[in-house]
Amino acid sequence: MPDMTAKTVVITGASRGIGAAAARVFVGAGANVVLLARDRDAIAELAGEIGPRALAVPCDVTRYWEVEAALGAGVAAFGGIDVLISNAGVIDPIADVDAADPEVWGQAIDINLKGVFHGAHAALPLMLQQGGGTLITVSSGAAVNPIEGWSAYCASKAGAKMFTACLHTEYGARGIRALGLSPGTVATDMQREIKKSGVNAISQLDWSVHIPPEWPAQALIWMCGAAADPWLGNDISLRDPEIRKAVGVGP
Ligand code: NAP
Repeated sequence: MPDMTAKTVVITGASRGIGAAAARVFVGAGANVVLLARDRDAIAELAGEIGPRALAVPCDVTRYWEVEAALGAGVAAFGGIDVLISNAGVIDPIADVDAADPEVWGQAIDINLKGVFHGAHAALPLMLQQGGGTLITVSSGAAVNPIEGWSAYCASKAGAKMFTACLHTEYGARGIRALGLSPGTVATDMQREIKKSGVNAISQLDWSVHIPPEWPAQALIWMCGAAADPWLGNDISLRDPEIRKAVGVGP
């Protein structure tokens, strides 16, 4: 595993689920963490639990100015930004295209796709100035598979996957490592919402098949090291047994 001592990691969507698990795991590996989400109480509580190596910054990733200010707060607190994990995401609307609320559909694109652009746009000048950095997008199998009722989610994740590839094309030679993590199904609130919907085969999965959020958290750390370099510009799948072995999780 890469040494994260004194590295600063910004995590969007850190109020629960994969983002909150990642915050705990990165701090355990020696990093400082900047926690971004809309639920200010949840990130404040998590930062309080972690201690002085965590900073909670309320932030809606759909608002560029809030993302820029949050990264500035991270630099002011810890001196730089080494890793940005664009993890904030929503599954709604779960509905066929004719029934989906256009406002909610657009909001999914704003969070899952534009939010990733906002993070990279704000982080790149800081990272380029310090000579490099890592931009990780939390992707999904939905980026490459059409799934019934999930047109906004699939389209936004496909866009974010391509955006991550573009980041690698534009900045790979300038010290920026851009790559994505496709975690498989994870036992978080998002899967609870999916189950409640009853739409498509994923909602019918038995809860026991979902992996714990600590597994993708562990994978995210591994992705900060050179062992993940062959995947730059691409998604790493945590369903892949070889990746699980390399990361040290699961069967
Ligand atoms: P989750 O428990 O529902 O957490 C989603 C996180 O995103 C929350 O912290 C939420 O915080 C944040 N978020 C949503 N809208 C935001 C906004 N506008 N601005 C800032 N933060 C926002 O879901 P999760 O499973 O941990 O999902 C994390 C990522 O993994 C997502 O990108 C998801 O697409 C991806 N993923 C999950 C699964 C799965 O099976 N769970 C599978 C593949 C990929 P606030 O509500 O406090 O803002």
